[in-house]
Amino acid sequence: MNCPVCNRPLKSKKSIERGIGPVCEKKQQDWENQPPDGQLTFVEETVLVIK
Ligand SMILES: [Zn+2]
Repeated sequence: MNCPVCNRPLKSKKSIERGIGPVCEKKQQDWENQPPDGQLTFVEETVLVIK
């Protein structure tokens, strides 16, 4: 079984039971808790990392 967010194989039983990797689960929780402005901030940070 792979993580539906990043498509990497789930290694731990907990991740398989939840159907998502621990990192992506945390990210999704952060996104759910943040307003739309928070998502824009995340995208901007990602662009900066790529540069
Ligand atoms: Zn993932």
